[in-house]
Amino acid sequence: MFADICLPVPFESFTYLVPPALESQVGVGVRVVVPFGKSKKYVGLVLAVHGNEPQGVTVKEIETVLDTAPIVTTLQLDFWRWIAHYYMCPLGDVFKAAFPAGMKKDEGEKKRRRKNIVEQFDGTGCPGVQNQLNEWQQTAFRQIQDSWQTHDITLLHGVTSSGKTEVYIHLIQQYIDKGKQVLYLLPEIALTTQITNRLRAVFGEKLGVYHSKFVDADRVAVYLKQLSGSPYQLILGVRSSVFLPFRDLGLVIVDEEHETSFKQQDPAPRYHARAAAVMLARQYGAKTLLGTATPSIETFKLAQDGRYGYVRMDRRFSDMQMPDIEVVDIKRLKFQKRMKGSFSQTLLDAIDETLKAGGQVILFQNRRGFSSFIECKNCGWVPRCEHCDVSLTFHKKTNALTCHYCGSTYMLPARCPNCEEASFMNVGLGTERIEEQIRTFFPEARVTRMDLDTTRTQNSYSQIIDAFSRHESDILIGTQMVSKGLDFDNVHVVGILDADMMLNLPDFRSFERTFHILAQVAGRSGRKGRKGRVILQTRSADSEIIRDVVDNNYEEMYRTQIAERELFRYPPFTRLIYVYLLHRDFHTVEHLANQTADLLRKSLGLRVLGPDCPPVGRVQSMHIRKIILKMQTSDNVARTRQLLQSIVGQVQAQPIANSLRVYFDVDPV
Ligand code: ADP
Ligand code: ZN
Ligand code: ZN
Repeated sequence: MFADICLPVPFESFTYLVPPALESQVGVGVRVVVPFGKSKKYVGLVLAVHGNEPQGVTVKEIETVLDTAPIVTTLQLDFWRWIAHYYMCPLGDVFKAAFPAGMKKDEGEKKRRRKNIVEQFDGTGCPGVQNQLNEWQQTAFRQIQDSWQTHDITLLHGVTSSGKTEVYIHLIQQYIDKGKQVLYLLPEIALTTQITNRLRAVFGEKLGVYHSKFVDADRVAVYLKQLSGSPYQLILGVRSSVFLPFRDLGLVIVDEEHETSFKQQDPAPRYHARAAAVMLARQYGAKTLLGTATPSIETFKLAQDGRYGYVRMDRRFSDMQMPDIEVVDIKRLKFQKRMKGSFSQTLLDAIDETLKAGGQVILFQNRRGFSSFIECKNCGWVPRCEHCDVSLTFHKKTNALTCHYCGSTYMLPARCPNCEEASFMNVGLGTERIEEQIRTFFPEARVTRMDLDTTRTQNSYSQIIDAFSRHESDILIGTQMVSKGLDFDNVHVVGILDADMMLNLPDFRSFERTFHILAQVAGRSGRKGRKGRVILQTRSADSEIIRDVVDNNYEEMYRTQIAERELFRYPPFTRLIYVYLLHRDFHTVEHLANQTADLLRKSLGLRVLGPDCPPVGRVQSMHIRKIILKMQTSDNVARTRQLLQSIVGQVQAQPIANSLRVYFDVDPV
């Protein structure tokens, strides 16, 4: 007897011999320990059991069987195969992503099995407390259900604070009452204690939370509980929770559906959790609700075309008004030398007034890389990573320089290696720099900073949010993390320091994304009983996108963007696939990328663009080339996959391509 086994390596599967003593224990969906390579051992998952002896290879034996019953269902395996197929990666990569680390390890297995189900949190709150929906929330609630009669997938387009979450809660209750399970997906950084507490108060012990920032043992416990006879009926989780087992899934909610962080970037599988969730729901015959204040262009088009149902909520809860957005032209102010550091007088005055009135302020600083750079005052030399083509981030507190790609740390040199000058200046408009300025303008104010550096440790993000909502801090400075579905009562003013950084990114989504972020940030102000104020500093005060944000005009933004996408053949009018080639040697990767693109052109013609060197052309000493494929939406997915794999296989078969790495990014964001 033989078994095909999936291992946490980038291949489909490997065939092993099942020793007669284990034959009764080995079945599809159980984990086994197998030898791999010269001396390694892996935990793998049995995909199939059969009698076909592989030819021309020596077959190794399964060593132990870890489970007495399958730990993945056949539906889950189908789902894995769909991910591998659509996102063009080996099944082994999906296996790696699907389980918490503890389930891919051999040690301590007995202890963990099944009974080690720790209850999360402490079951606080008194379950059952549920707000009454107001009139238009009830209307939306009914419309969503009507819409599901004809459309399994429905978009709920509701302005910030319209009470989408309340509507979700009532829908969830309905499905739980029917004995169905519900999956509630949120982007990583939007999953806070705020939302957890709201759901806990209503659903109590029925709620399980699945978050990558939890310790692994907790995630294992949730996974195993979902397999048990008494699973959580409601799972609140981040993108990886689509890999959990469900018994009877009835409803999937994808909140903040426009969030690009639903797409996994690295490592493979590079899947989009929204697309995966839609697929998962289809498998179970479940309904899907996509919710957001600012739909993604892709989703909105599907709703416009009648492929998705569409429900709108235009009024904020208790009918409070949308904030006023005041645009401050910082180009002119800079020219007139009237800026105070990164601040206009208008913004400083607004902060001052707010603080005097006992209110709170959020300052938003978007910056790619979330970082600040330094350069030599004399010659402009900028320190860069030795292994990656990026400038290093400067950390003032430790005087250290770090690379955000590979994590290398360097000391700030005493003198510029280029000109021997001994003074550097901090040029990045990072959050740290904003904090420094704010402390000089408002020395009395309590200031908190929220960015990649301050939220590295587990829970620190939630801690900052919770402290701010308890008014333990007056001013919160942050990157787009502050734009997520947070609910603050006392924020009078939101200041956007520089709206342009996002607009100028060389990406077909940069306008859409800018609109999302600005609209979400603006939605943070004036949430309870008060009209909020948003001060938006920009160097492109006349641009269309800024006007659309100020007017809160999603449709206008959509109209211009969709026209552009059609004209330039971008999604949703095409299906993008990026082909990445990586090699240590610059010339080798150049040569092989050209060769690959030529071969692709023979079959795909004008669908092929490049190869190009991406903005960061070298990471961890690997040179990178990227080929862009703009596939027709009518092109057959399976045929495309076959073609790409055969061409890449052909290139990789050459001796020169020995250590070439190739991977695909399907539907990149
Ligand atoms: P959204 O998800 O659309 O941003 P929320 O559901 O978070 O909106 O609602 C915004 C705020 O209004 C929250 O503090 C919420 O508790 C409150 N709220 C919304 N609807 C109701 C309701 N029907 N009864 C009581 N409070 C509500
Ligand atoms: Zn580096
Ligand atoms: Zn210098």
